[in-house]
Amino acid sequence: MGSPDAWPGYQRKRARLRRLARHLRGLLDNAPDRPEIRTELTIVGLDGRLLGRLDLAARGSKSHFIVDYKSGSITNASGRSDRTIAVSFSSTQCLKTNSGSWPTTAYLMPLDGPPVEVVIDPDACQQLAEDAIRVLGEFNLLAPGQQPASAGEDTCPNCHFSSRCSAFWSACSPAWADKILAVADR
Ligand code: SF4
Repeated sequence: MGSPDAWPGYQRKRARLRRLARHLRGLLDNAPDRPEIRTELTIVGLDGRLLGRLDLAARGSKSHFIVDYKSGSITNASGRSDRTIAVSFSSTQCLKTNSGSWPTTAYLMPLDGPPVEVVIDPDACQQLAEDAIRVLGEFNLLAPGQQPASAGEDTCPNCHFSSRCSAFWSACSPAWADKILAVADR
């Protein structure tokens, strides 16, 4: 495979990651206190029916916020970011259940571009979480049993199961290098 420096897109990805780290550092430096930081936090809400995974949660005596990294764009063609904000909101519901209080702010941090600050609306978070559970129930009624995998460069890079997914390893190709770096020991 050679040195990482020679991997496709390595330098560009490195530069994007460093920029994101600078944004994150600025966010933490500007917090009014020294919040406790937890990363890769798995959280559960609504009696175990909703599972969320937060990239970073910071909580102090005067600050409580979450950060969600985004490898892709956080806005759609019309410039709106409803989907990613919705994901953060439903995770936020879990965090409230786990920590006892709502975070005040969510920051969406794309690899390209500045962070987007979203003020948390507890009622909207609660409603969204309940809607997600309802829609999941409707889906499970319509599609019982295991569903076929649909591996793709737009889905697999964001999937936590990719390293263990045979469909991913069968489909993954160098053409996906812009989206994901995958190394297998065969
Ligand atoms: S890694 Fe596997 S389970 Fe995940 S999106 Fe790709 S095909 Fe689906």
